[in-house]
Amino acid sequence: MRLPDRLGKLNQEVQQLSQNDWQELEQKLFLRTVNRVPVTLVRGQGAWAWDDQGREYLDFVGGWAVNSLGHCPPVVVEALEKQAKTLIQASNQFYTIPQIELAQLLIGHSCLDRVFFCNSGAEANEGATKLARRYGKLRLNGAYEVITTHSSFHGRTLAMTAATGQGKFQEPYIPLPDGFVNVEYNNVEAIKRAASEQTCAVILEPIQGEGGVNVPDDDYLKKVQSWCRGKGILFILDEVQTGIGRTGTLFAYEQYGVEPDIMTLAKGLGSGVPIGALLARENVSLFSPGEHGSTFGGNPLVCAAAHAALKYIIDNDIPGNVKRVGNYFMTRLENLKQQFDFITELRGRGLLIALEFNKEIAEKMVLACLDRGLLVNTVKPNALRFMPPLIITEKEVDKAIGILVDTLEEIRNAKGKSKNAK
Ligand SMILES: *Cc1c(COP(=O)(O)O)cnc(C)c1O
Repeated sequence: MRLPDRLGKLNQEVQQLSQNDWQELEQKLFLRTVNRVPVTLVRGQGAWAWDDQGREYLDFVGGWAVNSLGHCPPVVVEALEKQAKTLIQASNQFYTIPQIELAQLLIGHSCLDRVFFCNSGAEANEGATKLARRYGKLRLNGAYEVITTHSSFHGRTLAMTAATGQGKFQEPYIPLPDGFVNVEYNNVEAIKRAASEQTCAVILEPIQGEGGVNVPDDDYLKKVQSWCRGKGILFILDEVQTGIGRTGTLFAYEQYGVEPDIMTLAKGLGSGVPIGALLARENVSLFSPGEHGSTFGGNPLVCAAAHAALKYIIDNDIPGNVKRVGNYFMTRLENLKQQFDFITELRGRGLLIALEFNKEIAEKMVLACLDRGLLVNTVKPNALRFMPPLIITEKEVDKAIGILVDTLEEIRNAKGKSKNAK
């Protein structure tokens, strides 16, 4: 069909839809990669969001642990406005100031020495893997294999699908790129058993996010790091989800007494704008010009926003708020666990928390909470994940708990009753 005809047909179809039915339109136009929750968000401020019908929601999804400072934080909006009028994109052929300022802040507040900016978590982990392979080639006799863990999540590219130790993500795409070995999480011996002369690195999430908010034993990371150091193998932390204050310190590694050779960041780094970063120690920083790169990575607009967000987070001790309000939230959830016997587990740190049930009711909970004005995320068919903005208050936690109690009661009361029970 000629393009004007295709457009005409599409416009006709749109007119036949009920007014403003974005959701029906989406069903028609998109590759089916996600089951969306039936709400169209149009606006947000702080921990609150509004849909196209004007309904208000308390947002405990936070753009998937991205909106560190909530929706449309004034410091980020201001930085974006200013930078948008100044310089939006220049390419990495040139020096630009916002990315250098952001790099200074990141290096100054972490144990790493050098940074590379990209656009997403998957890309940051790809870069980390490539850097580990450079290290393997130049320092470890060509070792190239990377050990990762079951129920991890490292992103959606083909290589990161191989790194991500979850069958459901891997099976549709087999054969996957070579060079990754998936072993049990929270098990140092499993890593030792999987290692060979070909191993150049181990990549771990300090706390597994997408895999279900799995918190390892306190000494796990320390043991892995010490084994890696003994073998001369790189110890890489994927802090894409745990980084930038999410667990109560700027980086989660600070709480486990370790210092990675390479660290990746993305989600919360830009407080809403898409940015990823790969940070490395000096002795590991072995890329030569042309061996890695990105068109958009380090883009001035995005870096100005990320710099404003990160500076605010550091200057205002937002990780301190995460620790305090996270503990409060945890205590209130612990009470819920005592009240409802079908809650089997509560786990997490800071404001990365999961609530697990003895049955697959997470989807139902999401919809029931939505009806009452609370946005939450399913991390497993039987578990919810909470990742509210890091600026959340006790009062907002109280509001969320109230809604959770109502939905949990509804589910308990519906048990055994027929479907027409309201
Ligand atoms: C979300 C996530 C990724 C992937 O990030 P994208 O920006 O979606 O590519 C990688 N690692 C971890 C730990 C994540 O939570």
